[in-house]
Amino acid sequence: MIDVQHLSKSYGAIQALKDVSFHIDDGEIVGLLGPNGAGKTTTIKTLTGYLQPESGTVLVDGIDVLTHPREVQARLGYLPESAPLYPELSVQAYLKMMADLREIPREKQPARLSEAIYATGLTDHLTRPIGELSKGYRQRVGLAQAILHQPKLLILDEPTVGLDPTQIVEIRRLIKRLARHSTILFSTHILSEVEALCDRVIILMNGEIRADARLSELAQTSDAILVLQQAAPGIETDLQSLDGVRGVESLGAVDGYPAYRVLGTDTADLTPVLFEMAKAKNWLVRELRRDTQTLEMVFNSMNSEK
Ligand code: ATP
Repeated sequence: MIDVQHLSKSYGAIQALKDVSFHIDDGEIVGLLGPNGAGKTTTIKTLTGYLQPESGTVLVDGIDVLTHPREVQARLGYLPESAPLYPELSVQAYLKMMADLREIPREKQPARLSEAIYATGLTDHLTRPIGELSKGYRQRVGLAQAILHQPKLLILDEPTVGLDPTQIVEIRRLIKRLARHSTILFSTHILSEVEALCDRVIILMNGEIRADARLSELAQTSDAILVLQQAAPGIETDLQSLDGVRGVESLGAVDGYPAYRVLGTDTADLTPVLFEMAKAKNWLVRELRRDTQTLEMVFNSMNSEK
């Protein structure tokens, strides 16, 4: 659905995107995660054809955004960071105006409008001026205009920024529902948002992609946790002698049982070789598992490396 190759963009001396490439398949829901100034909005504006990069290519549904921005914009739904809503218009009048701008044929408009209004839970707010709505409801109006033309792709720039916790939960629920019918790419700087909504995350820092992986892949580490039923003399030296082990940390007693973190040298899973050694040495194993890390740990370690 989206194919981005070698995208670069500068604003004067600031290089906002540096050789960014990624691919998003049909039906995926992908979070573009990064701190403030990482280049998320620049990426999104380029994908949606509102900003020209210096170099690189962007294909959306097989169409080149740089040469055919209008065709691409007709196919996607876009919620900008601050949606340009008209405060004096009622919700209904605004959505009708957007349906006209989207060139949705007159005869199809009633059905499309009611579907978008129903999907975003705006039924009871149609006659209210947009300027009188809460930020959460204005965001719903922004989402309603983004889905009016039933796009296969939705691109949402920080969809929950500035919302209160209840509104955040509601908008996330809505995004999950929309994901049943559309591919979704959304940007955020909130880790829990990615965990709540996506299978896959692209982490952007200083204009560069630092990770592009499924959450389950990111959670895996090369380390293993070994908990014994009872102490085994010389275990640390034995573990250390194994190929693929770069170190052993004693975790002390976990629930009263001796526990160790065995640090791996590469991404391979150490547990089979640890299991073999435990069998050979007659260690009484209480627990043996691959160690995992949270998205927050991954993100923080990248942030400290930058
Ligand atoms: P935020 O979460 O704060 O919106 P972001 O990840 O969306 O950040 P961008 O808005 O894409 O990041 O900005 C990337 C870099 O480019 C930042 O250093 C920003 O200051 C700079 N930048 C963005 N837009 C402009 C502009 N119009 N002129 C000059 N510099 C800009």
